[in-house]
Amino acid sequence: MSRILIAEDEPRIASFIEKGLRAQGFATEIATDGVTAYGRARSGEYDLVVLDIGLPEMDGFAVLKLLRADGAKVPVIVLTARDSTQDVVAGLEGGADDYMPKPFRFEELLARIRLRLGGERSTDATVLRSGGLSLDLRTRRANVGDTVVDLSAREFALAETFLRHPGQVLSREQLLSRVWGYDFDPGSNVVDVYVRYLRGKIGTGRLETVRGMGYRLVEKD
Ligand code: CA
Repeated sequence: MSRILIAEDEPRIASFIEKGLRAQGFATEIATDGVTAYGRARSGEYDLVVLDIGLPEMDGFAVLKLLRADGAKVPVIVLTARDSTQDVVAGLEGGADDYMPKPFRFEELLARIRLRLGGERSTDATVLRSGGLSLDLRTRRANVGDTVVDLSAREFALAETFLRHPGQVLSREQLLSRVWGYDFDPGSNVVDVYVRYLRGKIGTGRLETVRGMGYRLVEKD
């Protein structure tokens, strides 16, 4: 049974998450401030941490920073305020594995938790390919030629979206809705930031900027 730590100070939200997870067979514990959350998260007793950013005593960013500085590898899903792209980018750069903007539906959080725990996935292996770049959707592994490329969950989802639409121009709004799955401010630059990360990992020439429109996967070979 997977054990999940819920670091959330709002009783209504903590209880909503806890009830949902217990109904799915997870063991849960709630921490209502950052200091307690940090102490429990670093204990190694949890398989995953759901971490609110706005916590008393020590905020979620500080908890995350300390955990990663300790070398704790426990997957962390950060709960962020809606419309706070800065929180998202800072959270992911600070070592979060994923994030969940508030308000959210329980199923959305559950899907992210299952993904991070490596839970049930489709058994039919699917590999998407384009000119030496391949993504194995089952193992979440990316390769360029024979070289394994280490992509974050978000980078992988972004690459997957491009590979599913080869040669097609995808607008920032399309990429936001497909990869981030949440109504970001269209003025947000999170897509540009992640395209830059991805280019750095899979090669600059694969993703073409189409000025004023968006990005396109260049079909090589
Ligand atoms: Ca809070």
